[in-house]
Amino acid sequence: MFKINENYLKLQGSYLFSAIDKKVRNFIEENPHRKVIRLGIGDVTQPLAPTILKALRKAVDEMGEKETFHGYGPDLGYEFLRKAIVEKDYKKRGCDIEIDEIFVSDGAKCDAGNIQEIFSIENTIGVCDPVYPVYVDSNVMAGRTGTYDKDKETWSQVTYMPCTMENHFIPELPKKAPDMIYLCFPNNPTGTTLTKEQLQRWVDYGNKEGAILLFDAAYEAYISQEDVPHSIYECEGAKTCAIELKSFSKNAGFTGTRLGYTVVPKDLKCGEVSLNTLWARRHGTKYNGAPYIIQRAGEAVYSKEGQKELRVQIANYMKNAAYISKGLKEAGYEVFGGINAPYIWMKTPDKMTSWEFFDYLLKEAGVVGTPGAGFGPSGEGYFRLTAFGSYENTVEAMDRIRKL
Ligand code: PLP
Repeated sequence: MFKINENYLKLQGSYLFSAIDKKVRNFIEENPHRKVIRLGIGDVTQPLAPTILKALRKAVDEMGEKETFHGYGPDLGYEFLRKAIVEKDYKKRGCDIEIDEIFVSDGAKCDAGNIQEIFSIENTIGVCDPVYPVYVDSNVMAGRTGTYDKDKETWSQVTYMPCTMENHFIPELPKKAPDMIYLCFPNNPTGTTLTKEQLQRWVDYGNKEGAILLFDAAYEAYISQEDVPHSIYECEGAKTCAIELKSFSKNAGFTGTRLGYTVVPKDLKCGEVSLNTLWARRHGTKYNGAPYIIQRAGEAVYSKEGQKELRVQIANYMKNAAYISKGLKEAGYEVFGGINAPYIWMKTPDKMTSWEFFDYLLKEAGVVGTPGAGFGPSGEGYFRLTAFGSYENTVEAMDRIRKL
């Protein structure tokens, strides 16, 4: 009789957004006349920018001609895209990243979930709390768990680094260093971030303790403040302790189109073993590359026109973020984030739990947000709203919240 991977049975409840979806569907069934505004899930709403669409269409046409048809692509991604990434995301910022350190993929979620495969099952994990659920869940699936503390809802192999208003959402360096540390800045869900100096402390810590930093920079395009790093490789020494994950989802609206990349520097080693080689082996064995047409669309993201169009899109989302922040503050809520990220993190009022506030907001205002508790124990008592809705819906949602 076959056996299953029992680690999957250790996963806690259903995935956060399925749980939200179920509640919203029930609400709509019971209240068919009410308009529900979703400021919960972090999906973009603006269509692909014209320059990107043009590149996509051209690539589609190429696929229809014998001379320009593309079959399987190179393992690491097409050179035209990796070249653009190196030039525009790294060299331009003074980061010395080479083309063979870039691995193109179909998004940061897959990479964030898969990267743990090249590390020992015995490694301990460090995550910010609250946290993007994929980091912990993918390690639970792999069996990096230890024992479960039911009261705290935590695993013994995972160090949870609280990020709350008390520490200004800046995780403290753990006394006992985890082997693998996931950092995401600008952060989902809190919308807060680290300055370059604060991130440098983590890089120094990683190098000193022999810990690997898995740096998720999915929201890099939303950074507006000068002293916030766009890449971990802006910090000195990061190439010997950090892997960076990037996505085209939030900067260019590729959530449905799918494109991302991971940077694994060649200087990153465990003894004599190069992590770049290990990831290349894994990539080549289990993955056959993002589609040619999508990589061409990704290339257009870096074009002058593309950049111009995307700056407008991001400004539109950030206008929503500013509107939400201001509206919530005026309504008397404590509000964080929303300056370098499209997420607004708020304290729930009157000591409500985050799920109680979710139900309250849905019932009374018909607005859907995300309960902080779904992102980890320290998310309890907080609530996330996103700036990815349309401006009109954002304004309407805030009007409704203000009237509560
Ligand atoms: N990383 C973080 C922190 C995210 O919030 C998300 C999506 O919400 C992703 C990665 C997923 O990115 P992608 O769409 O490229 O898979």
